[in-house]
Amino acid sequence: MKTILVTGGTGFLGSNLCRRLISEGNRVICVDNNYTGTLENVKDIASHPNFTFIQHDITNPLSVDKQIDQIYNLACPASPPAYQGKHAIETTKTCVLGALNMLELAKKNKATILQASTSEVYGEPLVHPQPESYRGNVNPIGIRACYDEGKRCAESLFFDYHRHEGVDIKIIRIFNTYGPGMDPKDGRVVSNFICQALKGEDITIYGTGEQTRSFCYVDDLIEAMIRMMNSEKGFTGPVNTGNPGEFTMKELAEKVLALIGSSSKVIFCDLPKDDPTQRRPDISLAQEKLGWHPSVPLDEGLVKTIFYFRKKLGI
Ligand code: UDP
Repeated sequence: MKTILVTGGTGFLGSNLCRRLISEGNRVICVDNNYTGTLENVKDIASHPNFTFIQHDITNPLSVDKQIDQIYNLACPASPPAYQGKHAIETTKTCVLGALNMLELAKKNKATILQASTSEVYGEPLVHPQPESYRGNVNPIGIRACYDEGKRCAESLFFDYHRHEGVDIKIIRIFNTYGPGMDPKDGRVVSNFICQALKGEDITIYGTGEQTRSFCYVDDLIEAMIRMMNSEKGFTGPVNTGNPGEFTMKELAEKVLALIGSSSKVIFCDLPKDDPTQRRPDISLAQEKLGWHPSVPLDEGLVKTIFYFRKKLGI
């Protein structure tokens, strides 16, 4: 039995990861300040004997009285409206100070630590699809910078702790992920479109709707995370984890409307600043090193996600 600490454990990805780790017989220490996560997300495992919750903000050092084997560092507001709004400064602090504190904890425990990095490190990509070797095109002073530069700095810290302190690190770059456990008020495109269509409200496309994203179903992503954590010693990544299927926001809106059978109207709204035009992962490295490839196509994942939101919204 391993003791595994998950920061951001009550968030969307964190709660799905905790559930999977518990189901595989591990002892899980879930750490979150619940700014954007919620205990509601882990209520089904909260009373499990192998599950512990610690309310803590990782911008402050954390000491745990148990020997920890693995740390998944997921904590950070991840939705653009969350990190561009009142959480902007906390976002940089969580990325940078949070990474520092968790790397110190990993060093003390000789634990393997996985960083949930992001496709946002590529900014507005000029190379398409994006391989890990692409160094990105980020606006360092824009409204997305707190997240993008915060996550870039965290990657840099991880590599310095690896080079100079011998910490066993793993980095994944997560592309857009969706599925059960998403917050209806998250502000992401998938949750917005589905909730709008279910409630018969207008579907809000930002900009022309020609911008693209690649959407990965949450179970596929969790599988990639666990494979990366348990990959061969010395393999650090970074590794892109995402579904290479690429869709415009217009196509996504059409799919959601058709699957729900909704008659919601599509409206076009202002495009937020620095919104990337295109995004699609090159996942050859994940395939080669982790033997991983996403298995849930968008339509199938959307059906499961719609089912979840129907229940959540009571529709
Ligand atoms: N978007 C949209 N309507 C919405 C929310 C988002 O058209 O109600 C667009 C957004 O401008 C971006 C894409 O959908 O181009 C993905 O946005 P999201 O916030 O889900 O993730 P991002 O990739 O920007 O982190």
